[in-house]
Amino acid sequence: MKKERRRNLRNTALWLHFTITIFDIFLIVSILLFVLALAADRLGFFRQHSPSPLFLILMMLIISVISATSISALIAKRVLMSISEMSRAAQEVAKGNFDVKLSESNHILEIYELQHNFNIMTSELRGIETLRNDFIVNVSHEFKTPLAAIDGYATLIQDPDMPEDERLEYIGMIIESARQLSRLTGNILKLSKLENQELVYDKKEYSLDEQIRQAVLWLEREWSPKDINFEINLEECKYYGNSDLMMQIWINLIGNAVKFTDNGGNISISLVRCDDKVIFTITDNGIGMDEKTKEHIFEKFYQADGTRGRAGNGLGLALVKRITDMCKGEVSVESSPGVGSQFKVVLPLNEQKRER
Ligand code: ADP
Repeated sequence: MKKERRRNLRNTALWLHFTITIFDIFLIVSILLFVLALAADRLGFFRQHSPSPLFLILMMLIISVISATSISALIAKRVLMSISEMSRAAQEVAKGNFDVKLSESNHILEIYELQHNFNIMTSELRGIETLRNDFIVNVSHEFKTPLAAIDGYATLIQDPDMPEDERLEYIGMIIESARQLSRLTGNILKLSKLENQELVYDKKEYSLDEQIRQAVLWLEREWSPKDINFEINLEECKYYGNSDLMMQIWINLIGNAVKFTDNGGNISISLVRCDDKVIFTITDNGIGMDEKTKEHIFEKFYQADGTRGRAGNGLGLALVKRITDMCKGEVSVESSPGVGSQFKVVLPLNEQKRER
């Protein structure tokens, strides 16, 4: 309360200061004009007029000083009211309340711009706050299931009479849940690191087609029990980039194609060089996606309804998108429910020649 009063006093002082300055300027100019008029009178310029022009000049000067000072006081008060409103709003923002909005009604361009930019700032902050809250909710949600599983199975295996095969099965479940948690934290860390990084480091030239073949082999444990048919056509292509990051793209896209394709399904992978770009395409005849899912799949933690049961945490495609963006490339998807999906990654090659 005290602070508020002090601030108001300071505000008043500011607008008074502005008014007094205007008043001073007018007063000095008026005195000068009056001294000039006085000198002219002494020299006999006004002698034949009545009432004395000197008196008229004095009256005019007094009226102009009063009116100009009052007008400037009104204007100054109006301007400073907006500033004090902004100061109060900024205090609210500092306290963490991003819902404040200033009225963008000031006619002075600079003040109007200040109010407008302030509102943009609070709206951006509101967006970040929502993202942060969503992030916390999503992370907690993703942690909850494996933690509950570990808790449940660990409690069960404490029973000394439990048959050995059942105990082993539950231990397996605990290990799988722990790995799920480890994958989740690993992906969160990777994504947050990449989101704070603009440039790709540790680049080297390597064979992209060879790397994609390695990625398919790396996932053998996933696709061989499902009896999936692969059709692979990879043109030879040297790529200059960070091979670990690029491997993430291929593992996530091929892993998803395997995960969302039923037993005995088909997956085709191609790599084509085209002018100054290289195009990677992966097509599956799996479950496919509806329009709503396609719109959101690159968002963090997004998983389509009905796919949540399958291992995953909705971070894979967010990572793919972030890495392709960092490489100045593009990733796109075409898909129909029940028909299958096609992901395309386009990476520029020219950019890299210049960098080297
Ligand atoms: P997840 O770890 O769940 O696979 P992703 O970010 O990789 O996370 O994918 C997000 C969601 O996109 C998946 O949960 C799934 O609903 C959908 N999706 C991704 N790839 C495919 C695909 N090839 N076929 C069908 N749906 C897919």
